Amino acid sequence: MSEPIASRIETEVRRRRTFAIISHPDAGKTTLTEKLLLFSGAIQIAGSVKARKATRHATSDWMEIEKQRGISVASSVMQMEYRDCVINLLDTPGHQDFSEDTYRVLTAVDAALMVIDAANGVEPQTRRLLQVCRARNTPILTFVNKMDREVKDPLALMDEIEQELGMTVVPFTWPVGMGKQFHGVMDLRQERMRVFAPGEDRVAGTEEVLEGLDNPIYAERFGMQYDNAQGEIELVKEAAPAFEHDAFLSGKQTPMFFGSAVNNFGVQEVLDALVELAPPPDVRESMQRTVKPEEPKFTGVVFKIQANMDPAHRDRIAFVRVASGRFERGMNLKVVRSGKGLRPNTVVTFMSQKRELLDEAFAGDIIGIPNHGVLQLGDTITEGEALQYTGLPFFAPEMFRSVEVADPLKTKQLREGLRQLGEEGAIQVFRPEAGSVLLLGAVGQLQFEVVAHRLEHEYGVKARITAARYNVARWVTCDDAEGQPGSGEKELRRFIDHNAHRVAWDAVNAPTVLLEYAGELRAMQENWPRIKFHALREHA
Ligand code: GDP
Repeated sequence: MSEPIASRIETEVRRRRTFAIISHPDAGKTTLTEKLLLFSGAIQIAGSVKARKATRHATSDWMEIEKQRGISVASSVMQMEYRDCVINLLDTPGHQDFSEDTYRVLTAVDAALMVIDAANGVEPQTRRLLQVCRARNTPILTFVNKMDREVKDPLALMDEIEQELGMTVVPFTWPVGMGKQFHGVMDLRQERMRVFAPGEDRVAGTEEVLEGLDNPIYAERFGMQYDNAQGEIELVKEAAPAFEHDAFLSGKQTPMFFGSAVNNFGVQEVLDALVELAPPPDVRESMQRTVKPEEPKFTGVVFKIQANMDPAHRDRIAFVRVASGRFERGMNLKVVRSGKGLRPNTVVTFMSQKRELLDEAFAGDIIGIPNHGVLQLGDTITEGEALQYTGLPFFAPEMFRSVEVADPLKTKQLREGLRQLGEEGAIQVFRPEAGSVLLLGAVGQLQFEVVAHRLEHEYGVKARITAARYNVARWVTCDDAEGQPGSGEKELRRFIDHNAHRVAWDAVNAPTVLLEYAGELRAMQENWPRIKFHALREHA
């Protein structure tokens, strides 16, 4: 007899682990991703992650951008089974100019694995991503990579991470030596040493393990490096607090591991820690109520939209994080925002990096739904319940351009193209309250270039993208004064009329004020005390 569906959902949800790897470019994210897949037995395709990486570096080349978009659909979510868990690993685009997308990916995970280059320590991109994780109290595991190089002193690194990222670091392993003298790591919990041997081909279970933290053989074999490590471990034991699972779950403590991804060293420990320590899916907040992952009915939220491989079809894949229940191919769903029905028959999963047709999925999983624009960023999909998940962030753009068509007969195509690219989150599009020239807003320069390229190749529009004078944007709202329903709306209208020359409407018709200098914002705040100015908009 088959297991009753309710308990089956519960079992499946409990074995899900959904996480993202975050790092500064070149710290070793791609290498580690590939090794995690290798160790979980998910691939024999070592190299396919790398192939994508190769394209990522050439972002100034238009063709490469195209190629990259296509390839990254297949590899931006990877699912693997390890021990008795199902792991969903989400890639975060490394290029700084795509950071908006990255932030949204982080809303779809339950934990993050931070990779640090031991020679460079905490780098800017890591810091930015970490801030987003910290704001959401996402649990973080830390992997210190490249111990086979001449790197920073491990105690100093530990200190740097604590200081810079505001978390308590709890070492689970400790390195013995580094660079040419890297001998391995002490496993502080299992009290044994795993001996380092360079080489890419070794897999699980083949490395030398020596028992104990003070085995007499260590001094003999590893000399001064062991003496140093022993002294450091003493210090760490005195100074570092005991690991507390709750402190980790709330993002206050991070377990730290040392290794060398390229040499397959330390990778398995991280994978084990992920299934043992990282949490299964948790409850999610919606505007209406709190939703539990093991609820029987399917709900999900669109956190990313990506144009498909074939530009001619204008197919787009909506990445949906399953928030509750069980998804089944062909089931009748509803897009809550539009009230429209959706019956996805060709949903894709991302098992072993191949796009495969998916039959079912559970809370924690990521599914890809191809569509022609029915789904937008931030959309909630349910079996019928009117539910809107909150928390998908849009960031106030920091760069602006005006956009016009070279050929006025193509105005319609331009609008349509920008509408779609805006919905995808590739760019933010603003319609000024006064005037007819559309404005584009981005957080990175490259976004404009990608949009110009895609307008031309996918929509047949040559766009003229020119400088705009704005540098600051804030979404504006106004609450009702106490006992005066409707007064907020009235005040907001007054503000908009008064500032018509610098107010614009975004893709979901939220009013935004555009300014040249941050200083103007302060003046405006003083003049309009009831208006609220937001640098971040969650889905309206
Ligand atoms: P990403 O930009 O974070 O995805 O970084 P990659 O995984 O592409 O790695 C950047 C470079 O560091 C590549 O040349 C890797 O071969 C190298 N690398 C990765 N892990 C290690 C390691 O453990 N030791 C050494 N020496 N190099 C590494």
